[in-house]
Amino acid sequence: LLSWDQETNLPEAAGEYRAEQLAQLSGWAHRRGTADEVRGWLEEAEAAGFSPHSVEGVNLREARRVFEREVRLSSRLVEEFARVSSQGHQAWVRARQQNDFSIFAPFLGRLLELSREKADCWGYEGERYDALLEGYEPGARTAEVAKLLADLAGEQSALLKEVATKSRETELARPWSDPEACFPQAAQEVFNHEVAAAFGFDFSAGRIDASAHPFCTTLGPRDVRLTTRYDERDFTNSLYSVLHEVGHGLYEQGLMGEYFGLGAGQAVSLGVHESQSRLWENKVGRTVGFWEHWWPRALELFPGAAGASPEKLARHVLRVRPSLIRVEADEVSYDLHIVLRFELERALLDGVLAVEDLPAAWNRRFEELFGLRVPDDASGCLQDIHWSMGGFGYFPTYTLGNLYSAELFAAARLERPELEDGLAKGNYAQLLSWLRGKIHRPGSTWTASELMRRATGRVPSASAHLEYLRGKYLG
Ligand code: ZN
Repeated sequence: LLSWDQETNLPEAAGEYRAEQLAQLSGWAHRRGTADEVRGWLEEAEAAGFSPHSVEGVNLREARRVFEREVRLSSRLVEEFARVSSQGHQAWVRARQQNDFSIFAPFLGRLLELSREKADCWGYEGERYDALLEGYEPGARTAEVAKLLADLAGEQSALLKEVATKSRETELARPWSDPEACFPQAAQEVFNHEVAAAFGFDFSAGRIDASAHPFCTTLGPRDVRLTTRYDERDFTNSLYSVLHEVGHGLYEQGLMGEYFGLGAGQAVSLGVHESQSRLWENKVGRTVGFWEHWWPRALELFPGAAGASPEKLARHVLRVRPSLIRVEADEVSYDLHIVLRFELERALLDGVLAVEDLPAAWNRRFEELFGLRVPDDASGCLQDIHWSMGGFGYFPTYTLGNLYSAELFAAARLERPELEDGLAKGNYAQLLSWLRGKIHRPGSTWTASELMRRATGRVPSASAHLEYLRGKYLG
């Protein structure tokens, strides 16, 4: 709740004290959670011999996993990390506003030091990055992720060129825009709310607020908070952030609330979490069918959109071209943004890349990957929130989410052939119920890769994602 409030409501001058509050509470929770008596409880419960995939067995396994990670860290380290990540986050907000990397650089350096210290406490077999990745995607290994991303980078760069050539030859190059149009935030809120509710988001157990960086967080079993940001020149910006976060929110609302805070009631990994957001945002929302269905209502709320049409709006949100900002990237170039961040954060963590050299390294690699010059750090290495909060090892889960979402969508369509026609008519319940059964309700019963194998009947790979992109953008 303190973190959510920090992102949505906190007055600027209150930041310093908030960092202390977060540090105190984190340290307190860490001491309680790693006390000797907790170890005793775990041993006693484990001796009862619950079967590994029963609710009790899963809860115990997850409690043990978390305990073993926490107990390796000192309370001093946990408190210091909470303090510096809160300070770092606030420094990042200022640095980004003022386009001045030097404001953020010392905090980034300190967060890297603390992250190395944490990784060394946790231990690792391959490389240090593994220990951090484990916190977001249990079971994933850096070497595998590196190979996957390298393969994808080659395929997607080629695909990007092909799509660019194709769209130059067709109408796709001319998406809808009206420089005179204005879409008041209040009308956007109404539209976003209606679409989110239609997808199945339960507003009696959740809400949407505004923040600098859209996110979803869960404060309790019936309390899921989403955020978005508004641009009055283009209502699709806030809308697609909402569609994305709603995907996360539906997962959270679909977990077994009676086991909130325990393995059986918890999301299994960030990669699986991201598969849900990318599925609703892109496979459902970024389609012609979506706009055919929602066009009449959009027109009622946004008189400024009168010059558009369902086809034009679809082209607008399906446009493919290399761009500076990850969260606004099209589906074809998206994973190249992850390749860049993964390479750089790995180099930062290893000390191969010095903090002060980050902006130059970012700009150089960005130009290689996208053929674009980065004009300033605010739209370069300062654009993402993750590093400001010490979230190193997080980015690869976005690409895993893309791969998983393509696998899941293909499997759902195969099992329910009428699914896509339903989606185009605004019938979202079928897809949601499929996801509830396959992904949401199991919580952390299975590992992420086992959960995916059970849902789709195959071991996850990049092939479904590439097939999906080719079919959608070249088909
Ligand atoms: Zn997400």
